[in-house]
Amino acid sequence: AQAPVNVTVTGAAGQIGYALLFRIASGQLLGADTPVKLRLLEIPPAVKAAEGTAMELDDCAFPLLQGIDIFDDARQAFDGTNVALLVGARPRSKGMERGDLLEANGGIFKPQGEAINAGAADDIRVLVVGNPANTNALIAQAHAPDVPAERFTAMTRLDHNRALTQLAQKLGVSITDIKKLTIWGNHSATQYPDIFHAEVNGTSGAAAVNDDAWLRDDFIPTVAKRGAAIIEARGASSAASAANAAIDHVYDWVNGTPEGDWTSAAIPSDGSYGVPEGLISSFPVVSRNGSWEIVQGLEIDAFSRKRIDASVQELSEERDTVRKLGLI
Ligand code: NDP
Repeated sequence: AQAPVNVTVTGAAGQIGYALLFRIASGQLLGADTPVKLRLLEIPPAVKAAEGTAMELDDCAFPLLQGIDIFDDARQAFDGTNVALLVGARPRSKGMERGDLLEANGGIFKPQGEAINAGAADDIRVLVVGNPANTNALIAQAHAPDVPAERFTAMTRLDHNRALTQLAQKLGVSITDIKKLTIWGNHSATQYPDIFHAEVNGTSGAAAVNDDAWLRDDFIPTVAKRGAAIIEARGASSAASAANAAIDHVYDWVNGTPEGDWTSAAIPSDGSYGVPEGLISSFPVVSRNGSWEIVQGLEIDAFSRKRIDASVQELSEERDTVRKLGLI
């Protein structure tokens, strides 16, 4: 029988954690043949709630779930782990400056990076979900010098999935008719969902839409502000869709993306498309043999260039801020 894969989830007792853990345990993260052991990390006041979730996981009698351990210590939680989903983060409170938010998160992601460096398995893969995700990933990465840099990624798959549905609904086509959509940049309001390179039944997404005003004034802001719209409607932030996107990201990373398509993920830049090397920025990516690769050779017109540059500029500023704070 296959050895179980150790999956660490931080913020396990939170909303996203609750939507995520059952899907991991059912085999949707890695595949239906891969047994898993869950390692849940929480802050001490939330450990009891995590124990409650673990009781429910037990009660599902998932055939692939070979164990659940709960920790309030990062070193233990990441010991021997193969996949780390960093969900727990310091939420932005009213009136909080970006610098304060980054500093508070530095206190979480620095020790987690150190713990990953100290004890994770050689094949460790890290997905950061907790916001500001791209820069939190950069902080964790900076404290894990022995782990290959490209193992640290941040989630823009939810933005990607949101954009897919908005475009499919506009065109009256199904999700599977759309290929090669891209989210560029930061997982923030500056992100740029690109339909110029998307293919809809063989034609370009932008040509199929043929409506610049919709693209500029409707599609782009709808995708970028979808999180706020969900809070407004639900009275709580998106959790199941965020968990779903985390599942998609890791599944594709491990199992590969389908031929003839790509997806979006924030991965360390190699300088492609003018994105400064080292920034963890969203790109069009494929996964081959367990590694993400940036899709090369796309032509970027002035409309897209301006938007990609603006989001990348924000990432550069976040990096400067965490540098000044001594977090990287
Ligand atoms: P959620 O589970 O709803 O969200 C967790 C994080 O995911 C937040 O940073 C949130 O960012 C981010 N996120 C990313 N994408 C989305 C999205 N599309 N929709 C909503 N959120 C998104 O938060 P809870 O407060 O329910 O749970 C957090 C848990 O983390 C708590 O149980 C807390 O105890 C724990 N925690 C654990 C830590 C640890 O293990 N060391 C450290 C800190 C917290 P945003 O701020 O933008 O909402």
